[in-house]
Amino acid sequence: AEARARYAGRRPQSAALREKAMEVMPGGNTRTLLSYAPFPTAMARGEDCRLWDIDGHSYLDLCGEYTAGLFGHSQPRIHEVLHATLQRGINLAAVGENEEKLARLLCGRFPSLDKVRFTNSGTEGNLMALTVARVFTGRDTVMVFRGGYHGGVLTFPLSGSNPATLPLSFTLADYNDIESATAVANAHAGSLAAILVEPMQGSGGCIPASPEFLAALRSLADKTGALLIFDEVMTSRMSAGGMQARLGITPDLTTLGKYIGGGMSFGGFGGRADIMELFESRVPHAGTFNNNVLTMAAGCVAMGEIFTAEVAELLFQRGEDLRAQVNDVARAAKVPVCFTGIGSLLNVHFRLPAPDRGYASTADEEALRELFFFDMLEAGIYLARRGMVALSLPVGPAELDHFVKAVTEFCESRAPLL
Ligand code: PLP
Repeated sequence: AEARARYAGRRPQSAALREKAMEVMPGGNTRTLLSYAPFPTAMARGEDCRLWDIDGHSYLDLCGEYTAGLFGHSQPRIHEVLHATLQRGINLAAVGENEEKLARLLCGRFPSLDKVRFTNSGTEGNLMALTVARVFTGRDTVMVFRGGYHGGVLTFPLSGSNPATLPLSFTLADYNDIESATAVANAHAGSLAAILVEPMQGSGGCIPASPEFLAALRSLADKTGALLIFDEVMTSRMSAGGMQARLGITPDLTTLGKYIGGGMSFGGFGGRADIMELFESRVPHAGTFNNNVLTMAAGCVAMGEIFTAEVAELLFQRGEDLRAQVNDVARAAKVPVCFTGIGSLLNVHFRLPAPDRGYASTADEEALRELFFFDMLEAGIYLARRGMVALSLPVGPAELDHFVKAVTEFCESRAPLL
């Protein structure tokens, strides 16, 4: 309560904006996850890996726009190409050279991509991948996992029945549980069109899938004739070719999003040529902004020049080192705090051992998560409200030290509460 009051007291402009926004938007914004209490911090501007809120505080940005902000807020080459693209006019209602170039770059990097198409978001990428899987297999059941997140209308609960999703037929299995997935696959063997899985549950708390689990899903898909779809919207950053390249497990289809458009709105999906070729005949897929010139131009620079295989590996290692460091800090302080994740994506948890699947947080855990978020803000660090850190390329050693110090201070000063 004290941390919440301190937060609210120092952000009158954000509070006032929230009041006004509530008059015209349900919840006061259009991104559900930014609806945290007592009101979300409103940002005014960003530069490299720094943010300034509308009340004048500045922060180290470790939220990294929920992984879409990989390049930071002012990458010079991306700014340059965006300005140059604007000079040539927007909304050209036509195909362009950058579309082919970006498609070729992605097909060259991700093992599963023979062919790819673009959308405006990861959500749409998943919707289109499921659509084509349904047409390709002539079936309409999709296996998804509890705690999975594939976009606004593709959110799956840890327990209970499905929330508002699409009129597709979803069947839920437990994540990282080969027995559960096998039982569900057997029960729906004749109707299973696809198995849709995140190689790491991102929104679900940065919970990595075990390689054995993903390999088992590959076999289950082969056995039942379903298509295996990796949702790599978050995990594609883990190497030049995403988690599929890291693990050597190739799905039939892959969905992409986030940073790949250089920070512009982006989504995509692709995979085996024999599946994707259905877009030449039976499956329509239009979309006014699918190949918008800003995303295509920024994406070519982002993926062709900046986020090379070497840079991807460096970022991965930086994240691995950081997670080891903050976990050491928690161990040394003897508090039940841990950081899960893979490479440059981390999430804090207030329990031990580190969870290997989603769980229903207790009220105490929820309170600690909120406290952690407010304490980090007080230390000048902005991260995702659920305690997720997504490193961006401008985050260097000094910024990492800043975070490690803040976590150390949290573990020590809050130890009595933990
Ligand atoms: N899939 C995963 C794994 C995600 O993490 C997200 C977004 O966080 C999405 C899909 C949806 O992407 P978008 O927000 O671009 O629609």
